[in-house]
Amino acid sequence: MKQFIKTSLLVGGILLAQTFQAVQAGDGDKLRAALDGATPLIEDLKYLTDKIGGRPMGSKANERAVDWIASRLRDAGLAVTTPSFDLPRNWIAGQAHATVTSSSFSFEPTFVPRVYSASTDGDVTANIVDIGLGTEEDFARVGDAVEGAFALVHTPVLTDKAGLAGLFSEYTQSYHAKARAAAAGAKGIIYVSSRPKGLMMRHVSVKAFDNTLITATIDRENGLRIQRGIKAGEAVTMTANIKADDTKGGQARNVIAEILGSERPDEIIIIGAHMDSHDLGTGALDNGTNTSIVMDMARQIKASGIVPKRTIRFALWNGEEYGLLGSGAYVAAHMDQMNNHIVSITHDIGGGRINGYLVNGGAGLLEETNRAMDVINDRGPFANFVVPIVGTDNYDFMMYGVPNLVASQEDATYASNYHAQSDTFDKVDLVQLKKNAAIAGHTVLHFANSAWRGTRATAAEIASMVEANSLHPSMDSFGLLDAWRRGERGLNPDPVD
Ligand SMILES: [Zn+2]
Repeated sequence: MKQFIKTSLLVGGILLAQTFQAVQAGDGDKLRAALDGATPLIEDLKYLTDKIGGRPMGSKANERAVDWIASRLRDAGLAVTTPSFDLPRNWIAGQAHATVTSSSFSFEPTFVPRVYSASTDGDVTANIVDIGLGTEEDFARVGDAVEGAFALVHTPVLTDKAGLAGLFSEYTQSYHAKARAAAAGAKGIIYVSSRPKGLMMRHVSVKAFDNTLITATIDRENGLRIQRGIKAGEAVTMTANIKADDTKGGQARNVIAEILGSERPDEIIIIGAHMDSHDLGTGALDNGTNTSIVMDMARQIKASGIVPKRTIRFALWNGEEYGLLGSGAYVAAHMDQMNNHIVSITHDIGGGRINGYLVNGGAGLLEETNRAMDVINDRGPFANFVVPIVGTDNYDFMMYGVPNLVASQEDATYASNYHAQSDTFDKVDLVQLKKNAAIAGHTVLHFANSAWRGTRATAAEIASMVEANSLHPSMDSFGLLDAWRRGERGLNPDPVD
């Protein structure tokens, strides 16, 4: 999960009244009992993270994860396919190092290129210019000096207390700093790690697969040391060497499992979580937790003999971290079925308690989601909000007008471990994981059995949603804005060439 939410919407609003009502008898209860009982949920998460480990798109571990998930779901009796899709760019991390030098020091910081960073042809040496937080005032202060230089960007420490709000402000800050540095002709952009004590992470570059700049993170302590040197008046240079395997093209695979509906088999509820991860940690919170939940939900629905009225598709998306590629490819490949996709549900915010859904998609969807949560309100409180999310796998559904939900989760340990070496199995609250599986399963089954059916948003409605919510920077950040403007990814009433 990587996106911008209007924080006010998360903290404001009114919690749903916890009405006292009998939980609907029948399949919902059955599924809940199954998911609450002994299942391989935790075993699966442990295997995916400890045995397979970090699984960035294009890696052997990613291929292994796809095959393992598919075989686990086949063993559970589901119909499974692993459709492949073409990649706009296939970036695989390789060797990278940097040396920082001034008249008084020389040292090697920990240096991690962001995904889609440009590689260097051998060593590249340039001055480092401290652009602070990368605000307009910061750029006014440094003037022309940033041209041809490495722009060093500072970032506040991202703690669990800062949570998702802190994460989104880091994204916004990186985006604007990068846009200004690129406009000023910087040779590259170097972010100081937002996690102290040497903890490193790998993010995707701003503009994702459209990025052309050298883009990397250095450890916080050495970043601060460079800043002190520059402040003291020293000229500081950096020699960087990045060698990524960055061949154009290639393919990756999603995993799609299906349970056919009994009454309206052509109507589809799609529940997805991305199975890929960045490579420094093992992708436990992002997004092994929700991958395991989707797998367990599919398995327990099947094992309980529950037959939903509508078809349920369970999607383990690939390439989310690299530009929402797997879900985007699915939507493109199923464009003629989008009218029959009743709702798309995405889970991608870690291991904290599910506290509701972020809802996008026209009249009645919020009310129907409220009804879904009401049935399981003893696991609440829940609060659902209308908010369009950019930055996870609901995106292409949303931009083609399909009603969509993204699970909202409490911050827990998500932010401090986000994309970092420390995103490992031990950070996951396993008791909460079980509870989340039941909430998620209940919600999916509710929409599969409900008579509710929304309408797809039109191109004009999508354009006004983008405008009204100022989604442009976040779309641009993930390489999505230009494609939408051209009418190539998402409905656009007025595409430009
Ligand atoms: Zn994620």
